[in-house]
Amino acid sequence: SLSDRLTATFKNLRGKGRLSEADIDGTAREIRRALLDADVAVPVVREFIAKIKARALGAEVSEALNPGQQVVKIVNEELVGILGGDTRELRLAKNPPTVIMLAGLQGAGKTTLAGKLAAHLKGKGHTPILAACDLQRPNAVNQLQVGGERAGVPVFAPHPGISSEAETPTGDPVQVARDAVSEARSKLHDIVIIDTAGRLGVDQELMRQAADIKAAVGAHETLFVIDSMIGQDAVNTAQAFNEGVDFTGVVLTKLDGDARGGAALSVAQVTGKPVMYASTGEGLKDFEVFHPDRMARRILDMGDVLSLIEQAEQSWDKAEAAKMAQKFADQEDFTLEDFRSQMQQLKKMGSMKKLLGMMPGAQGMRQQLDQFDDSSVDRIEAIINSMTPHERVAPKIINGSRRARIAKGSGVHVSEVNQLLERFGQAQKMMKKMAGGGGMPGGMPGMP
Ligand code: GDP
Ligand code: MG
Repeated sequence: SLSDRLTATFKNLRGKGRLSEADIDGTAREIRRALLDADVAVPVVREFIAKIKARALGAEVSEALNPGQQVVKIVNEELVGILGGDTRELRLAKNPPTVIMLAGLQGAGKTTLAGKLAAHLKGKGHTPILAACDLQRPNAVNQLQVGGERAGVPVFAPHPGISSEAETPTGDPVQVARDAVSEARSKLHDIVIIDTAGRLGVDQELMRQAADIKAAVGAHETLFVIDSMIGQDAVNTAQAFNEGVDFTGVVLTKLDGDARGGAALSVAQVTGKPVMYASTGEGLKDFEVFHPDRMARRILDMGDVLSLIEQAEQSWDKAEAAKMAQKFADQEDFTLEDFRSQMQQLKKMGSMKKLLGMMPGAQGMRQQLDQFDDSSVDRIEAIINSMTPHERVAPKIINGSRRARIAKGSGVHVSEVNQLLERFGQAQKMMKKMAGGGGMPGGMPGMP
């Protein structure tokens, strides 16, 4: 499997200090293979690999990861970025109704999705209505009506009476869309979901119709619905729809199948539009808000490798935290100078909260940790900076007038100086008790 091959590559690379071009090439080859296996379009793969190589060559050498892991981490970050970074929310209109139009090839899953999306939005407290604007396919309106019924959402159709499966509805889809929006406005539906017709292939007539509907109702979101099994055709289809209707988001369907989801990457890369939802079956509930990080894992098919990388980073962080805990424990005469320099060290190491959370014994202090923010460290530092060297090693001499002077010098209230000294006194006692060894049972000095 890819994971095995990559693990082997990592073994070869382990221990090397910096990323050489040859190291990157080895890993890049495996990534390239993984992307092609996932059916990412060939030109997209080429562009992606070039970008990864350029970024990896310029990368700082990590202390936590070996070079191969570092390349994979970069690959994962780039993938997530292209797939849309954070999950994008639906953009709701300031003046309801919000109009969401679905576009895509025939069989992509638009009508099925319409019902799912309606159910999803209804679950979030919206009052959607579905608009049946596919007047080309026999049974299209009926299919939407069934979906609407399942979702418990009304359907606006040109001939509400249609029930015969053989009947092809007639009428102007643009007018139906307009009427549906008016209906929504008068019946206070805050969202209109417009189902449109598709063709088997990209077709000018179809594209014009979709663009006309979009313009007539001023769609707020146009979602391009694409079958994830489409493979290499994803690029051409996405480009055609991007030019034809200028969609705002992508929905990937049939992700319950074998497809590893390469189409998601192809579409996102060539159009720059985010994937917003995923359809994973024929049922109403087979629907998900799209998560770029999960999709990146699926495309690379190396969740276990990524987990390894996470573990490596975490254990490195833990080792650093343990070193620091030992330093605390080693202090016999803990002074405000020491306190300050440890604060500075902690700050240098990044998020204090994350680090403190990893200190042995810190688990019991969740609540305190949550109140802790890096700006309080800056204030503590400022206060200690305003003390004389003598005051820092002998805080007992800090009387009322010294406190007032320190407060003024550091721009804080006297009560903050008092608080710091009181906590420092407790910390000092604890340090002495702990000097014998063994973790930090009581917690971190200076905690607000
Ligand atoms: P449309 O032509 O774009 O409206 O596509 P439809 O919604 O009619 O779907 C075409 C076929 O694909 C139908 O048989 C659906 O049941 C099926 N389908 C749609 N979405 C999914 C999905 O996420 N997974 C699976 N397995 N089938 C789906
Ligand atoms: Mg349909």
